[in-house]
Amino acid sequence: MSTSASWTALAQAAIAGELPSRDQARAVLHAPADELLALLDAAFTVRRHHWGRKVSLHVLENAKLGDCPEDCSFCSQSSVNGSPGGEAPIKSADELVAAARRAFATRAKRYCMVTATRGPSTRDLDVVCEAATRIKAEMDIEICASLGILNEAKAKRLVAAGVDRFNHNLETSERKYAEICTTHTWRDRVETVRIARDAGMTTCCGGIVGLGETEDDLLDLAYALRDLDVDSVPVNFLDPRPGTPLGDRTRIDPQFALRALCMFRFVHPRTDLRVAGGRETTLRSMQVMSLYPANSIFTQGYLTTGGATPFDDHQMIRDAGFELELASGETEAADPAAVASLSPAQPRRLPMAQ
Ligand code: SF4
Repeated sequence: MSTSASWTALAQAAIAGELPSRDQARAVLHAPADELLALLDAAFTVRRHHWGRKVSLHVLENAKLGDCPEDCSFCSQSSVNGSPGGEAPIKSADELVAAARRAFATRAKRYCMVTATRGPSTRDLDVVCEAATRIKAEMDIEICASLGILNEAKAKRLVAAGVDRFNHNLETSERKYAEICTTHTWRDRVETVRIARDAGMTTCCGGIVGLGETEDDLLDLAYALRDLDVDSVPVNFLDPRPGTPLGDRTRIDPQFALRALCMFRFVHPRTDLRVAGGRETTLRSMQVMSLYPANSIFTQGYLTTGGATPFDDHQMIRDAGFELELASGETEAADPAAVASLSPAQPRRLPMAQ
């Protein structure tokens, strides 16, 4: 493979609903630098077919910081990785509603409340559900929750409160997952995604590139997500956190990150594909190129790290000729001046080396 004509053929096949073969997907990851623009153009052909030039903004809110009992080796919120002990309080419903108002002001399509937990306690659910109900009554924004492992009863409570989507990432292949986490399994994660969908939520489920996975692990992840038929795939790039077992890993290079996004687009032609955590630190000057395979981004930073401001992101979207997709389904022009006064959310600081 590996010619411009081949990328075009791959795009046409993806639009026709054909799943790329594993060899084709692997070839995308190996595209030479001379063909990067042709590859991005092919991925954009698929993205444009299903999503036009729309970009949706998503805002994360770290509702409960740190002290997670799980041992995910990339995560600075794990108590095993140095996040201090002691019950970390969940924010109040008032605080979560106020953060949703800030997200709405950025013109975000979706607002995601996240807790660092194995799964939500009754108290966590009470607060998230109260916040979700109030947010739904007040503003037109979709609500996502990322609260760890769910059971049916908890999933039904979220749906009744108005939560539209549940995030639970597979992170990597089943094989690699056993190396990066021992306190729960990859199969546990698949089960939670199924429970969330069966309860009536759309599903957001992706992974992290740069954990030290093999190429086959990355391909396994992409195809497993396709088998799960998830609605949204966030693709994160490891931003190594000091103090974690993966804290010394080198970031992947930006061209590989773009090729990985293209591979995910060909395997997931219709899916809401998000360039997620690590966008700014991995892609650096190449960030805008990620909008050609991906159709959504996080703005205002991440759970424990900062990121681009709403002004930066509106400017990038406008400069590249894309438009914002809102929760209403309408589109509007990105308007950096309108969001210039919105300061970036300050990441909640973990009291450990960052
Ligand atoms: S379950 Fe989530 S918050 Fe807890 S250690 Fe793993 S990634 Fe971090």
